[in-house]
Parts: sequence; structure tokens; C-alpha cells
Amino acid sequence: MSCEWENDGVVQRFREYLQIPSVHPNVDYRECVTFLQKQAELLDLPVKVYELVPEKPIVVISWIGTHPELPAILLNSHMDVVPVYEEFWTHPPFEAHISEDGYIYARGTQDMKSIGMLHLEAVRKLKEAGVMMKRTVHVSFVPDEEIGGIDGMRKFAESDEFKNLNIGFGLDESIPSENNKYIIAFHGEKTTRQIKITSRGVTGHGSLIPSNTAGEKLYYVIDKFMKLRAEQRRMLEGGAAYGEVISINLTKLSGGVQVNVLPESLTAYIDIRIAPHVDHDEFENMILSWCKEAGDNVTLEYIEKNPEVKSTKIDGSVPFLEVLNSTVKKMGLEVSYQICPGATDARFVRRQGIPVIGFSPLLNTPLLIHDHDERVHVDAYKRGIEIMEKVLLAIANV
Ligand code: ZN
Repeated sequence: MSCEWENDGVVQRFREYLQIPSVHPNVDYRECVTFLQKQAELLDLPVKVYELVPEKPIVVISWIGTHPELPAILLNSHMDVVPVYEEFWTHPPFEAHISEDGYIYARGTQDMKSIGMLHLEAVRKLKEAGVMMKRTVHVSFVPDEEIGGIDGMRKFAESDEFKNLNIGFGLDESIPSENNKYIIAFHGEKTTRQIKITSRGVTGHGSLIPSNTAGEKLYYVIDKFMKLRAEQRRMLEGGAAYGEVISINLTKLSGGVQVNVLPESLTAYIDIRIAPHVDHDEFENMILSWCKEAGDNVTLEYIEKNPEVKSTKIDGSVPFLEVLNSTVKKMGLEVSYQICPGATDARFVRRQGIPVIGFSPLLNTPLLIHDHDERVHVDAYKRGIEIMEKVLLAIANV
């Protein structure tokens, strides 16, 4: 590491967090908790650790506003990171090495220890400047986002402890922007539905050609899915964003005993991500009608059935967003609102009826989320702090 950063507190705090290997599987969060408790102490702010599930701590650092009765701001990030293939990395992924050209290399530099630290650094700068905020700001750090958030934000968002925080608006994760102009913000997400279609039919010798076989009926349903998939691909090729199309993938097939025996049953597994503009009930009914059209004994089962979550409105009805937009604009930037192609913890908070935006102010950054050599430039990180500081100042004073 070039030594010009050694005395840079902002960079060193970030590196220290990145050096904690909170990596799946079986993450040990204790070091993260200790680090965050220390950060709270340095900021002279109260910190609470909720352990709704043993060994799955949720850390909340709170900055009480001058009007604590107003709904508060939530700045959320997750502490866990995805595994690495260390052999493909230029620098070790948990060393947070800074290259000659100023890039910090580490798992979590983009997804999303960076954003968690941006939240804290923004609070620090505002506190140091002697600013008083109207609304209380809660900076939360949650476990297990990368494995679905079941024991993390999902539990927390449904808890009384969360309700007591009285959140009015939240920021969560997004992806960095590869340019210097647009901040990518997620206002909604697709809904994951993973299904299993089982077709049961007549058995017999493979040389016969009877009707009502498991194969022909399953084929009927798969064909319907594949036609819909082709339609979605055409939309994508026509310029639709990933977040606007339904993704459909046949991911597993099973059944049968021997090649010359007509199987009693065959099963197809399909991974579906429904775009938010699609009526989820209608979509389900469509699948059920395909099963019915296919013939008798064709059934639909869910492996994962997430409820439909309404996207956060960007039509001007959420005042926090109007303020966020105009703040960003004043800095010569623009917010590009998109539907997140994957799933994040934001959905659990949105389910509680709270508007949440995935917001990453990292600009000029190559997109390397979950990839080898995940990195962020020191300048992009510092610019990110400036943007976050201004945005926080604006939204916490609405
Ligand atoms: Zn993430």
C-alpha cells in the first residue's frame, strides 16, 4: 500500500471494516459488531445490538433529531459478503490493499460495506460541522442479506423493536454507476417465485403411444413458459431494462425410471422473477390455467412464493424523494430510477409500507459486485461521502 493513505482516517476506517472476513458460509459477525460499537463510540452516538436470532446480530447506531417525534430515517446496509475465488484476485480480498492508482481492492468495496461506511461517514461529517437534524437517523447493519435475509432484515422489519424506531423513509443498497453523471437508484424489485410443476399420467411400455402421458402434459406447460420467455427476451432485445421483464428459467427436470417405461410422473422446476408491473395474482392464475389445459393431474407447487411488494412511488408523492432528487441535481448529477433485477433487504422494509430507495453514490466505478477484484477508487469513495452527506442533510430535515 502506498503510505499516503496511512494517516487518512476516512480510508483507514473503511479498510478496517473491509478486513473483517464476514464472508459466507457461516459468518461470524462478532468482529463486525465490535468494530461498529467502536465506531458509535467514536461518533459519541448510542448503539443497540438486537439479537432476534442467536448469532445474527443487528446493529443500530442512532442520532437523535431535534424533533424525535417525527418519523425517522433508516440508513441500512448488510455486514455479510459473498464468497471469493481468491486465486482470481490481483490482491487478497480481505486485505483492502490500495493499488498505486488508488483503488481499494476488497470483497465488500461495492456490495456493500462501502455504503454502510458512507452512511457513517456522512453522519460524522454532519456531526463535526455542528449540524442538528430535525429527524432521528438510524444507521443499521444487518446480517445474512446475501442468503436471503430470513434471520436478518426480514425478522427485524417484522419486529416490535423495528416498529419502535418509527421509520418514515429508508435508504438501502444499489449498484455503483460506471459514469460520472447518473446515480443508480432502485425503487422496486422483482418478486421471486420458484415453482415445481408435476405431471402424472398413464404408465406402460415405451413402444405404445397412449394419450394422457406425463410427458405430453408436462411438455404443454413447459412450452407455454418457453413462449412467454421468448417474448420477454424479445422485449429485452428491444431495449427493455432487466427490471421490466419477467425472467423465466427451466432449471431442473426429474422423473421416470427407465427409458422404455412410460413414467408415472415427471417434474419440471422453474425459477421465475416477476416484474413489479405485472399483476401477480393474474400471473399465478395463468400458470394454473396452463396446468388445467394440459390435462388431469398436472399440479403446481411453490418452492418459494414471495408476496408481491409494491414499489416505492417515484411519482412525486414521497416528499423525501423530491428532496433527494433536487439535492442530487444541485450537485450536477441525476438519479436514474430502476427496478432492481435481484432481491435486496429493501423488500422487507417496503412490506411494512415504508418507502425505501436503493441508493449508491459511488460514481465512476466499474461494476464488480460479487465479482473478482471488486474494488472502489479512493476518490469515488470520498465523493460518495460528500453526496451521502448532502442527501442525508436534506432528507433528515424534510
Ligand atoms: Zn448487497
